[in-house]
Amino acid sequence: MIPDALGALSWAHMALLVAAAWIAATVLASVQGFALERLLRARKIFDVPLFDGQYRFELAGNVVFITVITASITAALKLGVIRFGATGWLAGGVTFAAMLLGFQVFYWFLHRAMHTPALLVLHRWHHRSQVTTPLTGQSVSPGEAVGWAVGFVGLPWLFSLIAPVSFWGWVGYLAFNTFGNIVGHSNVEPTTPAAATRAATWFANAFVFHSLHHARWNGHYSFQSALMDRLFGTEWKDWPALYERIIAGKPLASLKEHGE
Ligand SMILES: [Zn+2]
Ligand SMILES: [Zn+2]
Repeated sequence: MIPDALGALSWAHMALLVAAAWIAATVLASVQGFALERLLRARKIFDVPLFDGQYRFELAGNVVFITVITASITAALKLGVIRFGATGWLAGGVTFAAMLLGFQVFYWFLHRAMHTPALLVLHRWHHRSQVTTPLTGQSVSPGEAVGWAVGFVGLPWLFSLIAPVSFWGWVGYLAFNTFGNIVGHSNVEPTTPAAATRAATWFANAFVFHSLHHARWNGHYSFQSALMDRLFGTEWKDWPALYERIIAGKPLASLKEHGE
């Protein structure tokens, strides 16, 4: 169930609330990402300069992303697209877990599709950033933002055809996704060796994993964990060697670096 106070909002007020919440999450996560980049300077991933005006370009992408996502979520809530109704911690946890897994599957296919010649036009904006920053995560074209909106709204719609989903479980996942996406594009490696093993990366990637996607293009399409890349054979074998190099305080000096 959507909380009653939310259900009573007009279109304009709903849009304002969704935008305010997304902007707040974006600012908080970006501050955290930039703080990580300062605190962990000794674990920089790429020692390669940003392009001229990169932050400004990425900020524009964030405005595009937040506008599309706000419009999509507002419409979904006002039109009652998703069947909410499950309440309580257990239902919240199940909805969160379903979104967590569902989005990884959905995103791998969306991302892989956007790397085909026909759809690359949608994805070039995100790849303008060869070295990433916390602002890179949401720096996308309007077309790519629509793809993300399909995941954020279409997945819970699909789930709710089977059983009602938890509003707070869904909101919790969107917050988690946003934080992970933004902080995860920081150009430093905070992952501890215990969390960077092959076993652990079934659940969450080391930051270098997606950094390599921006540097090299044709692999590492996963969101959050290596799961889908491992299943579909799009994982590069040399990322653990590069991880070791980075945490030893030797950042990658060029986008073309390879490990053994
Ligand atoms: Zn890509
Ligand atoms: Zn990226």
